[in-house]
Amino acid sequence: MSVGCEFSLAHYRELVEAAKAGGYRFADFERAPQPGDLLLRHDVDLSLEAAVELARLEAELGARATYFLMTESVFYNLDSALGRETLATLRDLGHRVGLHAVWPRAELDARFEPVLAWHNPDPEYMRAPVDGAVNVMQEGFFDPARYRSDSNQHWRSGCPHDELAAGRFDWLQLLVHPEIWVYDGATMRETMSSQLDAERELRWQQLAENRIDLDG
Ligand SMILES: [Zn+2]
Ligand SMILES: [Zn+2]
Repeated sequence: MSVGCEFSLAHYRELVEAAKAGGYRFADFERAPQPGDLLLRHDVDLSLEAAVELARLEAELGARATYFLMTESVFYNLDSALGRETLATLRDLGHRVGLHAVWPRAELDARFEPVLAWHNPDPEYMRAPVDGAVNVMQEGFFDPARYRSDSNQHWRSGCPHDELAAGRFDWLQLLVHPEIWVYDGATMRETMSSQLDAERELRWQQLAENRIDLDG
């Protein structure tokens, strides 16, 4: 990882600019990747707010991504007003929405494009085809040499910004978790601490909105 590859919105902006400089086109999972494609994938594990913030930055930069949202997350509720608003906002910004599914339930409804990414998958089913949907890790969409992931702030093969700028991948599936970049921190623990601080403020607001008496 070169100097300056921190997990921040500033560097995420550089990463997207690098892809543009390298001549990549922002592609989705509706067809198998072709030369020149960048499949920007976001698994939304923890925070709808972070997803929307990243989505706005991408729209500003002319980038398009696919956001994979959970229907059974312990961290957010897609059926809440905020969840419905998030779905609409992501689409308004030009992005696509797939299902971030928990094995074995591949229950895609009208809220999702027919594309799915398993949450924390085990190797046994990770790459198996799914009825009626594209599995982002299935053959044709996943290739270890054309895949980078920021999981837990750890790029297994390095931050790809230099290689993107140089056009060194013929195509790339890039998995980025929004929370990691939106909230500040030099380690996952610090980043999660920043997220929890932000959510504490939000929770106070939500308590007031739910008519909880906070005057005592
Ligand atoms: Zn970098
Ligand atoms: Zn996940």
